[in-house]
Amino acid sequence: NKFEQLGLNPSILKAVEDMGFESPSEVQEKAIPVLLKEDTDMVALAQTGTGKTAAFGFPLIQKINANNKHTQALILSPTRELCLQITHEIKNYSKHEQGLHAVAVYGGASITDQARQIERGAQIIVATPGRMQDMINRKLVNISKIEYCVLDEADEMLNMGFFEDIKNILSHTPKEKHTWLFSATMPKEVATIAKKFMRTPIEITV
Ligand code: AMP
Repeated sequence: NKFEQLGLNPSILKAVEDMGFESPSEVQEKAIPVLLKEDTDMVALAQTGTGKTAAFGFPLIQKINANNKHTQALILSPTRELCLQITHEIKNYSKHEQGLHAVAVYGGASITDQARQIERGAQIIVATPGRMQDMINRKLVNISKIEYCVLDEADEMLNMGFFEDIKNILSHTPKEKHTWLFSATMPKEVATIAKKFMRTPIEITV
């Protein structure tokens, strides 16, 4: 099993086995060892359906300190559906990690309920940019100590007009965090985000 050669810990490998994944996909093979070994920024060109959620999800789960309840990672995604799907996958991947919690934050559902879930301790927040901005404005969330930020489907988020929200959300995060940007395409706007908010990212393409 090639998953065992990527540097993943036993509890993630157990989840991989539970899910019946037989071998890593290309983006997983390229991204996981790098993200685990180096504290780096990354730009990954990958379409949906390539297994990119696990490509950033596994390293994130392994790097996060589940004994500490504060929010350590923020994943931004364009839609409510994707946000829920990522949260569901992260929960599956981390089911053998005691104390690790991921919370989905998206519009069209109770903001108070979402805030309450975060308050109970969420190391990972998976959010759509609009609702995340709303939560920041209302001081319902604190992302000032995150260590990792994932911009998933960055091209889609920018297509949907989230540039200002993303910029504003990132301004509430520490400079020292690491950003992992995933995008199917690399239009000018995505390159601008990468240039403005990332530090010498390692680039991978699948
Ligand atoms: P994604 O591109 O992250 O949306 O993943 C697409 C689908 O592939 C999801 O349902 C995953 O659960 C599944 N998947 C991810 N990685 C693997 C793998 N290595 N082997 C088999 N299925 C996978």
